[in-house]
Amino acid sequence: MNLKISCLGGAGEIGMNMYLYETPTSAVVVDCGVIFSDPQQYGVDSVLPDISYLYGIKDKLKAVLFTHGHEDHVGGAIKLLSEFNLPIFTGKFTAALLEHKSSKLNINIVEPRLYTFGDISVEFFPAQHSIPDTYGVVIVADGFSCLHLSDFSHADPELLTRKIDCLLLDSTNATTESRGYTEDDVKQELYKIFSERSGGRIFLTTFSSNVARLGSAIDAAVRVGRKVVPEGASMERILGQAMRMGLISVNGKDIVSPKKAYKMEPSELVYLVSGCQGEPLSALATIASGERKAIKMIEGDLLIFSSRLIPGSERNVNFLINSAMRRGVEVIQADDRLVHVSGHAGRGDLKAFIAAVAPKYFIPIHGEYRHLSAHRKLAIEAGVARESCLMLESGGQIQLWDEAVVYNEIPSGRVYIDGRGGYTLDESAVTMRKQIAKDGVVVVRLLPDGEIALETYGFTLTDKQERDVMLEIINRDIDFAPLNEQLARVVKRYFKKQLSRRPYIAVSD
Ligand SMILES: [Zn+2]
Ligand SMILES: [Zn+2]
Repeated sequence: MNLKISCLGGAGEIGMNMYLYETPTSAVVVDCGVIFSDPQQYGVDSVLPDISYLYGIKDKLKAVLFTHGHEDHVGGAIKLLSEFNLPIFTGKFTAALLEHKSSKLNINIVEPRLYTFGDISVEFFPAQHSIPDTYGVVIVADGFSCLHLSDFSHADPELLTRKIDCLLLDSTNATTESRGYTEDDVKQELYKIFSERSGGRIFLTTFSSNVARLGSAIDAAVRVGRKVVPEGASMERILGQAMRMGLISVNGKDIVSPKKAYKMEPSELVYLVSGCQGEPLSALATIASGERKAIKMIEGDLLIFSSRLIPGSERNVNFLINSAMRRGVEVIQADDRLVHVSGHAGRGDLKAFIAAVAPKYFIPIHGEYRHLSAHRKLAIEAGVARESCLMLESGGQIQLWDEAVVYNEIPSGRVYIDGRGGYTLDESAVTMRKQIAKDGVVVVRLLPDGEIALETYGFTLTDKQERDVMLEIINRDIDFAPLNEQLARVVKRYFKKQLSRRPYIAVSD
């Protein structure tokens, strides 16, 4: 037996999940996701794993398996598949989301059977999560079996058709106690909240892909006699998709268009709005801030955040809540009432699952290092031998070679996508953007008469500072023709030493 498990992203960090299972002759990729950019990333829209390692094993690559349709698992699919023409194997709902991204993909919708890719065989293992059609994958090579169960809230070990030797498991909530609530509890609570309201509109926001939650909200709305209005492109699209696929059973008459809703009484309406992380251009942000002409939040309305706050979104969400409250809107969040349950299993559930599967090896995945570390401890408590709990981080590879475990490193990292213009940036371009944003730009211009002129962007030098930097240049006695890096270096040194700044320096004639 010789199986290599590589992590190209998603362990030791949040997002960008991508794994590779590889024998001497075959390899399959599991997931290829993105990290969403935070406002500090200077125009970067998303961050993808560096897939250069795959070029070295190109001939072995057989397929890409997607566990579910969240962007931290499928967001890098198009880039990956534009570079490697591989067939996709995934669930029906994930397939629909991928088809929306591109119609050119070769997608196989999985059934409960065994798939063979060279000397690797794969079986899909159904799991529950906050998006329909979520799977774990059982990957078998030379009789050795791995269960790769990324995001899940619940899964039934009884459904496994074979003994699992190595378990790779979702660590997201490895530091959070299981609360024991289910989606049904949320459905009841939403009904209670809706029935407590007599007037005003109800706005509920969640991830559009959380189809079960949309179903709960629709159920509660129908029970209190309100109509449902989807707001936001992704909300409309995914709700329509889920209804066509029979994932939500609702009478078409209970869903009304925003245009029709405009003529109805506020007390007759529940809006399902996209933008639960306060994304500035989302439907929710534009409605809450009053930018939308046709629909504005007003006193008496209720806004429910039926979602968790992703770290990094706090500022946007708080800004939005402040705008809504300023308009007299009541806001309910997950801390106030039971309006959200996590899509990830908590400590108690994780421990029970590990104990039931009783694997020889355990590898925590999907989380920051603190989550992986807590998860490792849980696995030991659940009966896995300490030395068989293996730690894998992005850029790491674990080779299971007969009875030996070998740790290797593989080329890895991040690539940055700036969507406007379709640019792919490397680390140095992002660093340059940060430098320019923080410290500005200095252009050193050599004039035809041999004089030097300085132009600064983003800040202005005092007369004295300008004189000083000129003196510095003259004193260094630089040969100006041809223009050289030396000049830039002198100017750079001046700014660093005298002004503690590191502007981007360009030399030009
Ligand atoms: Zn997920
Ligand atoms: Zn995930």
